[in-house]
Amino acid sequence: MKIMIMTDLEGPSGINGRADSVGNKTVNLPIACQALVDEVNATVQGLVAGGADEIVVWDGHGGSNSIDIMKLQAPAMLGTIGGPMHPACFCDASFDAIIQIGAHALQGTPDGYMCHSFNSHGVCNMWLNDELIGEIGMESRIASYFKVPTILVGGDVAACREAKALMPDVTTVATKKGISRYTVIDRNPADVQADLRKAAEKAVKNIKKYKVLPTSKHYVFRLELMCENSACGYEMRGWERIAHNMVQTKADNIIDIFAQYCGWAPGIHNKKYGITPKWKGLVF
Ligand SMILES: [Zn+2]
Repeated sequence: MKIMIMTDLEGPSGINGRADSVGNKTVNLPIACQALVDEVNATVQGLVAGGADEIVVWDGHGGSNSIDIMKLQAPAMLGTIGGPMHPACFCDASFDAIIQIGAHALQGTPDGYMCHSFNSHGVCNMWLNDELIGEIGMESRIASYFKVPTILVGGDVAACREAKALMPDVTTVATKKGISRYTVIDRNPADVQADLRKAAEKAVKNIKKYKVLPTSKHYVFRLELMCENSACGYEMRGWERIAHNMVQTKADNIIDIFAQYCGWAPGIHNKKYGITPKWKGLVF
């Protein structure tokens, strides 16, 4: 069984930042990175106990500097991102499931600790076919394109709620409870890790019960931006300007939508890498 773990840095228990994303300027970055790898390792242990034999961890937080491979539990491998996007960041049809660890809620969630939608300094809201979407939704929909279900999400209470609203069957492990965007009560990390170990083992043993999200042939992706200047930037790349701070683009699949969000011209990314719903990009 081959599983991908997608990670982010805002969602583990014990992340306490002063900025609105856990970037390199955060006061407790080393602790944050340790907290994340501890949660990832607990998940890997559970997956192995449940029968997974191939695990790829994608270091998904900006810059891919959050996971020290020397601390990563074997047999997990580590994927890191460079440039605007690379297919190796993503799930493909060779995976049996994905897991999201360190997840956070979408921008504007009142109790979402450090909530944001990809760019905490640039994006107010994102809609996919008129539905508000954040990072949990985008990653699950990317996996679903390849017919890969999301089986487990670990993150704050708001992130877990968001995941359940989208995927009622998904298993969730709450790491902490946001009181406001920067106020939080963390669960004890040892308790969170124990829960992740158990949840991952159980989820992978019951992998067949998880469903993929429906896909469409017509996607409209709309962005409400914090700054009008960034709307100009999107417009220059061919997006349609629909308001002073709003743009939208279209595609017939979710991968191309996300590629466009990452800066690719329509259609180019998937053509370059030969990406189709059956693409098996990470087999080696
Ligand atoms: Zn994020």
